[in-house]
Amino acid sequence: MGKIKITVVYDNDAIVPALGTGWGFSALIETGKTAPLLFDTGADGLTLLDNMARLRIDPGSIGTIVISHAHSDHTGGLRSLLDINEAAGVYLPAAYRQDIPGRKVTHVSGPLEIAEGVFSTGQLKGIEQSLAIKTEKGILVVTGCSHPGVREIIGAAAKFGQVYGIIGGFHGFNEFEILRGLSLIVPCHCTQYKSEIMKLFPQPSRRCGAGLVLEE
Ligand SMILES: [Zn+2]
Ligand SMILES: [Zn+2]
Repeated sequence: MGKIKITVVYDNDAIVPALGTGWGFSALIETGKTAPLLFDTGADGLTLLDNMARLRIDPGSIGTIVISHAHSDHTGGLRSLLDINEAAGVYLPAAYRQDIPGRKVTHVSGPLEIAEGVFSTGQLKGIEQSLAIKTEKGILVVTGCSHPGVREIIGAAAKFGQVYGIIGGFHGFNEFEILRGLSLIVPCHCTQYKSEIMKLFPQPSRRCGAGLVLEE
């Protein structure tokens, strides 16, 4: 099994100073088996596409776009991206009732395999889907805002294998003990208790921001 590459394209913070920031989240997932997959699109197309250019990501190469939930800090760049990328299939949570003319749109309710080794937890609590990605180390969870709750999301992702890591927005999550034992913790975007999490789990934690690249 080859390595999976995850690049944070859009976040409230930046690891690479030249990259733009904004309240939102977007990450590119490259498995090497299928065309790159973009999870969420940040709050605005300008920052999203400018960051992609700086990270040398070709928006036209994206084969699949997955939107976690219908909030504008995750959907804001979608329109601009679709204007450039004319082929990507789109996976929306069922609660996001949006049709995109001329585009293959899948409305996700239950868990499903989106691409080889990349699964959706399915829409949880009627609002949001997260990704469960199969890597050599186990399952890596990628979240948007974690509105359904981190406990619920990790539980749903665990159906696809042993969860070893999580990256994304954790929102107001404060049941920190749930994270104990994970070997990768990357609190991004809306995570309210970022510094508390990183202090409690300094070894597995990584600072999130646009430009962060993980090879898992
Ligand atoms: Zn949200
Ligand atoms: Zn958000």
